[in-house]
Amino acid sequence: MSSELRRIIPQVDEVLRRSEFVALGLSHGRVSVTLAVRQAIDELRNTILAQNEPVPPPEGVHEALLSRVTAILGARLQASLRRVINCTGIPLHTNLGRAPLAASAIEAVVQAATGYSTLEYDVDTGERGSRQSHVRALLVELTKAESALVVNNNAGAVLLALSALANQREVVVSRGELVEVGGNFRIPEVMEQGGAELREVGTTNKTYAADYERAITARTAALLKVHTSNYQVVGFAAAASREQVVEVAHRYGILAIEDLGSGALVPLHGEPTVAEAVAAGMDIVTFSGDKLLGGPQAGIIVGKKECIARLEKHPLARALRIDKLTLAALLATLRLYRQGAQDEQVPLLAMLTKDPIRYQSEAEQLAAAINALPASLPAWRAEVKPAHAQVGGGSLPGKEFAGFVVAIESPIGCVALEQRLRCRDIPIVARIEKDRVLIDPRCLLAGDREEVIAALEAIAAEGAL
Ligand SMILES: *Cc1c(COP(=O)(O)O)cnc(C)c1O
Repeated sequence: MSSELRRIIPQVDEVLRRSEFVALGLSHGRVSVTLAVRQAIDELRNTILAQNEPVPPPEGVHEALLSRVTAILGARLQASLRRVINCTGIPLHTNLGRAPLAASAIEAVVQAATGYSTLEYDVDTGERGSRQSHVRALLVELTKAESALVVNNNAGAVLLALSALANQREVVVSRGELVEVGGNFRIPEVMEQGGAELREVGTTNKTYAADYERAITARTAALLKVHTSNYQVVGFAAAASREQVVEVAHRYGILAIEDLGSGALVPLHGEPTVAEAVAAGMDIVTFSGDKLLGGPQAGIIVGKKECIARLEKHPLARALRIDKLTLAALLATLRLYRQGAQDEQVPLLAMLTKDPIRYQSEAEQLAAAINALPASLPAWRAEVKPAHAQVGGGSLPGKEFAGFVVAIESPIGCVALEQRLRCRDIPIVARIEKDRVLIDPRCLLAGDREEVIAALEAIAAEGAL
């Protein structure tokens, strides 16, 4: 058997010399193809040995190797980080990458990535410039703050602010605002990392300005307000207003800092805006670049010139530095806000501000397309229903967005359908409710609808596996 096997199963080099494999080498790289061929040969040898099968003809061997190698390379090419279609209706789905970018932001990323840029170059003087200068003026304009600094995410922004302004000193925070954002980001722990000592005041449901005042000592550096962006305290509850916190802080000559979390630049469903926090007199305000702003993941810090300058000089500022692609995307997104074009052009804001009627007609078009699919689908039924979605990403807790979904019933059952949609090359993420698979059109982007319809058609054609 083994000598016969050696005769049938070619050597790796021999396979690699064949034109189809040379062609694969051009698109996948020679090393990858060599490894894939080795794996395919091993597998083929093992299958023949294990199954004691009749020996295939040489052309059969060649075909089998080519198809297996193509599959191995395809699977390797299919990056684990890849596009999915978000049918959940949750625009800031944390697991699905939070906010999609505006077209102009994507273009800016491509430009910044493609060539050289004025990232840290001042064309007027021909000398070194600051990457911060590009966004600073825009942020100052949009928030009316004195100055601004951007870092790679908001968790980093909070860490930097505390490290630079409150190291080895105390920071007073309301018990009701000791937020855990998720993924191990808890305000008390970030404070500890930043070298600040936490002084909790008030109770979970009530904290007054006087509670902050009583906690101030000679060692206090700042009063910190944290926007409870991912939960709400309702009922018998009270919190000191940001104006009150600022008043107390400044009366004692200490800083007032606010972590806004999902900072909205424009009024959005009752969320506090960054400009409001700045106008209240906060010395430092930190917020996310994606969440409710709809730009790239980034941490934005705005506030008093002198405080921002201290942050900029801290060594952590370098460690948390924003990269050029993020900077390009952020800049382009902020420019849309300056033009007042954000609601139509920032996808996240479009999803949150569009009239629900628009989603009804999108759902109806989708349902009609599904119901019109060919013969294989008689037992499938798609129906439009009103539904509610949350924004996700730990933002706007409790806020329900009215919308519409397409509810699909199929002969393969909802569990199998949800799974088959999810396991496609371009995974389609939907949810199940009352034995139906729900497709919410709110977060569908260009080309997604066609993809969903094609997927359902293919799944129907496969039938029950
Ligand atoms: C989301 C959030 C953060 C963290 O922001 P990232 O952009 O995810 O780093 C920090 N603080 C609050 C209050 C938040 O809501």
